[in-house]
Amino acid sequence: MDMAQHLSDTELSAKILRHAVPKMSELNIPVTPENYAVWYEYYKGINLDLKRAIDGLLANNVSFIPSVNKDLYKTYIQVHSPEVIEKVQVETQVLINGLLTKIASMSKGTSRFSDSLTEFDSALKGESDPIVLQKLVDGITSELDEIINANIEMDKSLSSMNKEVDALKTEMDDLRSVVMTDQLTSLNNRRAFDKEVISHINSFNQSNFESSLLVVDIDYFKQFNDVHGHLIGDKVLTYVAQALKNAVKGDDFVARYGGEEFVILLPNTSQEDAQKVAENLRVKIAARNLTIGKEKKLPLGNITVSVGVASLKVSDDKDSYFIRADEALYRAKSSGRNCVVGERVFETPI
Ligand code: GH3
Ligand code: MG
Ligand code: MG
Repeated sequence: MDMAQHLSDTELSAKILRHAVPKMSELNIPVTPENYAVWYEYYKGINLDLKRAIDGLLANNVSFIPSVNKDLYKTYIQVHSPEVIEKVQVETQVLINGLLTKIASMSKGTSRFSDSLTEFDSALKGESDPIVLQKLVDGITSELDEIINANIEMDKSLSSMNKEVDALKTEMDDLRSVVMTDQLTSLNNRRAFDKEVISHINSFNQSNFESSLLVVDIDYFKQFNDVHGHLIGDKVLTYVAQALKNAVKGDDFVARYGGEEFVILLPNTSQEDAQKVAENLRVKIAARNLTIGKEKKLPLGNITVSVGVASLKVSDDKDSYFIRADEALYRAKSSGRNCVVGERVFETPI
């Protein structure tokens, strides 16, 4: 099928260009005006002798070395279709313009390339000598190669930069978690709590769902340390931390506030429900008979906790919120420890 059917001159030229240039590059044929004239005619399909000759060469896997290319040009273009030469000079100009557009888009903002583009452009204007055109094409091609290489380099350095940024992000995340984590218990630390309580209050202000805070303190822990030693005391702190985590849901936020004192943020939880959560964890901790040692288990007895509960008010900031929970804790301690005290008293159904 020939390409000339139903197409305007420009459409045809563009179509031939799309076919000829990739084919020429596949066959390692330099895109010179002469060579382009040959392949232009081949894809146009009207010059049947040329078509047959090229198809023969392709079928026999002949390499398109300069002498073969020159021969094709001389035999089928210069002698038989000299009018093509002029046509092809126009085509070559189109091709060069295409290359220029490509270069321009690849080297946006690079003044060095814009300068050479302007040079090419003015050199091209009115130029129809194939030799000069060829030189220009060669020049543009090497310029293009340079830009392509520069782009490859840029890609490489961008991707290595990306990797560095990723590594940095990971380091930052690690650092962040070290800074926000309590080393002994692996719970969130005071710093993490101070940050979290702000967003806890912000979400409350946006949603207006009730939200609550528990302050949990181990009873008579000084005495426990005195009896069993600080190292065993540390193990008990780790156990309590785990027990607290196990007693709450995924949205809840548990932190070691300091010493033997823990805080738990319960978003979307009413005062009444928060007291139930607190009572539940208090009972679990109190019920556990602690032991130490893997084979020979030595009994340590029980430990208990006291819990203060506060619920957020619209007027609260993080300090007033915490102070109310801490005051409730103080009342729990005064009323004998191992108990939960909230801001409000709820009647237990009998
Ligand atoms: P209360 O029931 O009133 O809370 O009495 P308490 O003894 O628990 O309270 P107090 O504030 O008098 O003492 C807290 C003790 O907690 C002091 C210290 O021995 C112990 N403690 C605080 N931090 C740690 C820690 O990191 N490891 C260990 N093993 N003990 C700690
Ligand atoms: Mg205590
Ligand atoms: Mg304490």
